[in-house]
Amino acid sequence: MLLLEILKYPDPFLKTKASEVKSVESEVKTLIASMIETMYLAKGIGLAAVQVGVAKRVIVLDVPDENVEERQKGKNLVALVNPVIVKAEGETKYEEGCLSVPGITADVMRASTVAVRALDREGSPIQIEATGLFAIALQHEIDHLDGVLFIDRLSRLKREIVKRKLKKAFEAERAL
Ligand code: ZN
Repeated sequence: MLLLEILKYPDPFLKTKASEVKSVESEVKTLIASMIETMYLAKGIGLAAVQVGVAKRVIVLDVPDENVEERQKGKNLVALVNPVIVKAEGETKYEEGCLSVPGITADVMRASTVAVRALDREGSPIQIEATGLFAIALQHEIDHLDGVLFIDRLSRLKREIVKRKLKKAFEAERAL
């Protein structure tokens, strides 16, 4: 197992559209295991392969139950290969953040309920119905596989403000 480096905005790789995984072989299983460790170390609730520089349609999530103070690591852990949203209903707004866009959060509109079809980490087909934060996180992670960041989903004005902030932070970091 290997800890992976999480790419940060404005790394151009984050715009990559990932390819489908042809079969869930050991290489993909190792990637999943490493992504899970990397997600936990970074204290994230989700991570997409594109964020660690791999152009494969793989995401991992462990979204804590709502209204639960102490997070039970691994309780809701899922690894999904080739996830596809097959149903999206309702609307919800949530203040999202992202391991690849540190220091920024913003309200994003998403579907409130989704159904996702995918393969699990053994390569078996599964379908997941999700609501609440889990539904939001699934949409956020699947977006990463299409090279889309949550800041790309903001209104143009808000996006410009956020991008200016990020540019300043990036330049300040480089100046050190
Ligand atoms: Zn993200």
